[in-house]
Amino acid sequence: MLLKPNVGRETDPKQAINTNPLVVEAVFEFLEEKYDAQIFLGDSPIIMTDSKKAFKQSGFERLMEEKKITWLNLDEKKPKTLPIKDGILLKKIRVTGYWEEFDYIISIPVLKMHMHTGATLSFKNCKGLIYKRDKIKLHHLEAIPLIKKMREEIPKVKELDVAIADLYQVIKPDLAVIDASYVIGGMGPSAGEKTKLDTIIASDNFLAADIVALALTQPKWTLKDVPHLYLISKEIKKNDDNSFFTSVNDIQNNPKDFTSFVHEIAGPPDTVTIKYPNVILYSKNSCSSCVSTVSLFLKNNKDLIDKNFTKENPLRLVIGTGNKDIKVYEDTFLVGNCTMNLRDKNGIFIRGCPPVQSVLLKNVSEYLSQLEKDSEGN
Ligand code: SF4
Repeated sequence: MLLKPNVGRETDPKQAINTNPLVVEAVFEFLEEKYDAQIFLGDSPIIMTDSKKAFKQSGFERLMEEKKITWLNLDEKKPKTLPIKDGILLKKIRVTGYWEEFDYIISIPVLKMHMHTGATLSFKNCKGLIYKRDKIKLHHLEAIPLIKKMREEIPKVKELDVAIADLYQVIKPDLAVIDASYVIGGMGPSAGEKTKLDTIIASDNFLAADIVALALTQPKWTLKDVPHLYLISKEIKKNDDNSFFTSVNDIQNNPKDFTSFVHEIAGPPDTVTIKYPNVILYSKNSCSSCVSTVSLFLKNNKDLIDKNFTKENPLRLVIGTGNKDIKVYEDTFLVGNCTMNLRDKNGIFIRGCPPVQSVLLKNVSEYLSQLEKDSEGN
């Protein structure tokens, strides 16, 4: 069996961006006592991230050294291709080469809001089973007529949500243990606000676990606020009407009354201009790595941005492949290799996949110094 925490980034455990190792240790101790099984531990991180370093930095050293656990870098073996017969956008997907080793997948994510998908919970955590950069391809799909039609029923749906829901046909957790010891609200998955909840949600029905996690942190939402889960619930209904549910009221909970566990957190902003009135971010078909770079840049340099940009003269940033129709000004920052197609329009191009936060800061600082020099010259 595979213990699949969310360890996508090289970060300090205190930030709660990755799964709390204590939660994974508790799951391991429980399983180890009860079952005579071979236990693996692994994840495939975001691009340009060293998986081993990410696990070590996130506090997993003890588990990695545990004799009864085999730690795996899920990307190190040749991938396996899984056909997705009835996928809407995906017809096949390459997953970790270790795929055949696992007959039971335990998804152990951190409960986080997500700027692209509403929230990231036990199902979306399984996206880490996709091989290396193939994960990014899900962010770059374009199906405009289909999405337009789907939005009549699910207003927030995007191609990414449909692609994630397609994965349900071939990848699903057998057990979900959602780490809500600390949760991330707002600009998740990597630049949101941390809140201590001291809660764990577990179910052998991953959809039930994900719905309860949302009920605890986003009590005003419906499942349509996390479109991939809504689409999966519809897919389940097609095959088995009895296990179909979209609301926490359809789920048998233990304890029955969990109102004392409810703690509403900030949802992801529709646009970063809500939090940063002096910033316009064009983000279309961008992946989590670029979103992380930009979100952290904004978070870490708020004073600089507030001091030097205004609503009338905002900081304009572009990420992702899907921004062909926007107006690019001389001072628009084209961040990441996916914006390369806009270079001939104008703008300041910042190379990288993912782009590096310090390089973005250097370019913005140089631009501001140049502005200052120009104004002194006048
Ligand atoms: S440039 Fe940015 S959005 Fe494009 S693939 Fe790289 S990290 Fe993702």
